[in-house]
Parts: sequence; C-alpha cells; structure tokens
Amino acid sequence: MSQSLRFANDCIASFHMSIDGKIVETEEYHDVLNPASGEITGRAAIGTVSHLDKAVDAAEKAFQRWRDVSDEERSQACRDIAAAIDEHKEELAELLTREQGKPLKGLGAEFEVGGCIAWANATADLSIRVKVLQDDAQARVEQHRAPIGVVGSITPWNWPLLIAIWHLAPAIRAGNATIIKPSPYTPLSTLRLVEIVREVVPNGLINCVTGDGEIGDAMARHPGIQKIVFTGSAPTGRKVMAAASDRLKHLTLELGGNDAGIVLPDADPQKIAEGVFWGAFINGGQTCAALKRLYVHDNIYVEMCGALTALANSIPVGNGLDPKNALGPLQNQRQLDIVSTLVEDAKANGARLLCGGAPTGQGFFYPTTLVCDIDNNARLVREEQFGPALPIIRYTDVNEAVCLANALDFGLAASVWTNDLDAATAIAAQLEVGTVYVNKHGEVLPHVPFGGVKQSGLGVEFAEEGLAAYSTIKVVNVAK
Ligand code: NAD
Repeated sequence: MSQSLRFANDCIASFHMSIDGKIVETEEYHDVLNPASGEITGRAAIGTVSHLDKAVDAAEKAFQRWRDVSDEERSQACRDIAAAIDEHKEELAELLTREQGKPLKGLGAEFEVGGCIAWANATADLSIRVKVLQDDAQARVEQHRAPIGVVGSITPWNWPLLIAIWHLAPAIRAGNATIIKPSPYTPLSTLRLVEIVREVVPNGLINCVTGDGEIGDAMARHPGIQKIVFTGSAPTGRKVMAAASDRLKHLTLELGGNDAGIVLPDADPQKIAEGVFWGAFINGGQTCAALKRLYVHDNIYVEMCGALTALANSIPVGNGLDPKNALGPLQNQRQLDIVSTLVEDAKANGARLLCGGAPTGQGFFYPTTLVCDIDNNARLVREEQFGPALPIIRYTDVNEAVCLANALDFGLAASVWTNDLDAATAIAAQLEVGTVYVNKHGEVLPHVPFGGVKQSGLGVEFAEEGLAAYSTIKVVNVAK
C-alpha cells in the first residue's frame, strides 16, 4: 500500500512498519503530536517482539545474498536510496517539521533531508581497500573487510532522518542487512523513509520496527543481530552495552555531549557571535554536538554577552511551518521540563538572565535563553540541557578554562574562538574530546570521522573509519 500524507483535520495518516520489503499493518497505533501545536501529526504503528523476530528473519535472509554482491552493486544501492529520498524530499521535510518541530527552512527540516541525500551519495563513494600486509618469497598476506551480518539501528528524536541514514547507508554499503528502530517521539518520518527506500533495495535489506526501550533492549539482546549502532543518551547507551554483552555484539555508541566553547581574550565578539549562536542553538540546542557551555574571558565577557543577546532577540522562534521562523519548539514535554528545571535552578542560585527564561505559549516552546554570571557548578553547566538555554561562564586564566572544559565526563566536541591559531592548536591538544573546532562548532561532514570519548561514546561514524566499523577484519594468508 502506498502511503500518501493527508493532513486534513478529518483524516489522520497512519504510518506502518516495513518488514521484508512489505508494509506491515498492526493492531495498535499511537498518536504522534506536533510539538508546535499539540495537534496529531499522524499515527505510528506499535511494534512487538514478534515483529522484531520477523524483521530479523528477513534481514538474515537478505544478508545471505547481499554479503556476496559486488561492491558496485552496494554502492549503487546507496545512490538509489539518495535518489529515492530526493524524489520525496518535500514530503519528508514537511513531515519532519510536523513531528519533530524544527523549522522547514534554514538549518531545519529541508537541511536535514538534504543531508540524508548528501550522506547516502557520499557513502556510495566510500570504499574500504584491501591492504597487502606482506608480499614476499614466503607469503602474500592480505587484509580484507567482511560484513558483520544483521545490524540493529536505534535512533533518537532530534535528527531522526539524518541519523537513520548515518546508520543505514554505511551498514548496507559494507554488505550488512539492517533493522531500524526510531524513537517513539519521532517515528513517523523514519517509517515513511523506510517505506520509500525499501522499494529500491532487495526485500529485507532495510526493515523498520517501532517501539520503545523494550524493543530497543530486545534488539540489543537478539541472537540474530550481530551489531548495534545506537545514538542517544549516555545512560541508555550503557544499558545497550550491557544488554549486548551476552552475545559480544559489535557496538557503535554515539552518546550525549556537553560541549564547551572557550572564547580567548583576543577574539572579536561581534565577529564570532553568529558562529557561537548557531553552534549552540541549532535545532533549538537539541543536538548532540551543540555548544552547551560557553567560557568567555573576563576582558570581553560583557561585549560577548551583548552581541549574543542582540542576536538572540533577532531570531524568530515559532511554528516551523512558517518560513520566517528560524527556531522551533522543543520536541517533547520531558525535554521542556528538563530545560525549565535547569534554568530555574540557575536563577535560584543567583545567575542572571540576558533573555528568555520561561516556557511560552502553546506547544513545547521555550525561548532562546542566555544565562550569565553563572557558577560553573550550576546544574545548567554540568548537565546536558539539550535545549535552547546557554550558560555563559566568566574566566580569567585560559588554563583554568581548559580544566573546566575537561572536568566533566562528556567528551564529544569542544571549540576555541580566537585569531591566534597557535594558541588554538595548543589548547586543542589538551581538550579531551573527539573533535575540536576552531572558530566554529558542531559541523559534521561525511568525509570526516565523528565520535565521542569518555562517556560520549564508543567508535566513530563517517568516512572510511566509520564504514570500517560495519565490518570485521578478515586476513587471507597465502603460503608461497
Ligand atoms: P534516549 O537514550 O532516551 O533514546 C534513544 C533511543 O533508545 C530511542 O529510540 C529509545 O526508544 C531507545 N531506548 C530507550 N531505552 C532503551 C534500552 N533500554 N535499550 C535500547 N534502546 C533503548 O535518547 P533521546 O532522548 O532519544 O536522545 C537524546 C540524547 O541523544 C541526548 O543525550 C543527545 O546528546 C544524544 N544524541 C547523541 C548524538 C551523537 O551523535 N553523539 C546524536 C543525537 C543525540
């Protein structure tokens, strides 16, 4: 059955799972709400462990054939996926705005769908070369890469389509079959994505099963799944790791972050304000590698606060379907409560609001919030807010700022803002993170490996290193 989106009030679309190349209707569906309005965006199928078992069977069968197809065929499949998404990009972007809340324009839903197309094509261009380790009178020893088997992908609600493609494209490019489980907060766009792309790949190669943590846990334990790629919070990541340990599953864990930005005294606040702002507030701060605490040198603290406040006051926040809005609501009530609690705690402990600071209106809206004169031990600094509230901390000694940046368990990314590239390079060497940005924050690129250290994750995605994570090393050692 082909799914067409109808947003008329009297007809709410249902979104179904895809298993073995077929659309699977279920008995139970749950409403998914538009976070900007509280209206129902669509109804998502509720999957069960029995659906998961069927998806694993289908993926195992697909894998038996897919593991032996040529590299060109796998590369073409990624291109076909990109083309299929391209054909449906308007529909997917609108659905994404209606379920996730991000604006259609700017760094929002159209940008995310464009990223899916770019990443699927870039993954088609990747390859893992056979390495000749020895070739002499005694032997020829080659290092090959073999696919792992069935890969289970578990995704969060902040960038649901892009993260789905980040998992699925390299998995099938390396010769695996896949099952994706989206977050119950944002399942619709992924269900629709898989419904679209299943048509251009062999049956069973990409399956989508819905459900909450119970289904995610069943995936992590399932004997028919050989690798889990998980993007989500650190506490859930630890549970996934524990559940996957019984079968010694391969794991890639992309977890939370609490990225520090350090503004050195020579930086020009007016010049860097826009980069700092979008580094922090992209997707309303609901981004793993967003800038989540800003350390600013005392000499330019007031000017930096002023430049950011002016910018914050000029960026429209509202329903993402209105093209004038550059920022949308938080995706769900739970996240709204977390952000409100952390800002209230900061206020109660003497921090000062430069703008924002309380939920507004209908939907899960929270205004762009800047908090200054805040203690480094405040919860808003130490905990991942994952929302539009940035603490700005004053420092006087750059070594102290580096220590504070490194003091937390997180280690996804960090940034240094300065005109002195030697100073930036020296600080970069000291920061305990997977990526250090200089004069920017949060950029991800398909040809650059990305991943966290400490409690921010295990392994990397993207580039050859990310692709290699969907394979095992296989050595062929030929005697001469
Ligand atoms: P979450 O950990 O609550 O949920 C993520 C996914 O895990 C969902 O699909 C959920 O249903 C599933 N899940 C829940 N319990 C499970 C269990 N016991 N076993 C298996 N799966 C289970 O995260 P979230 O709230 O959806 O996303 C926000 C978090 O994700 C933030 O911490 C953010 O920083 C992080 N994140 C990280 C990256 C990255 O690349 N590092 C990217 C995006 C988001």
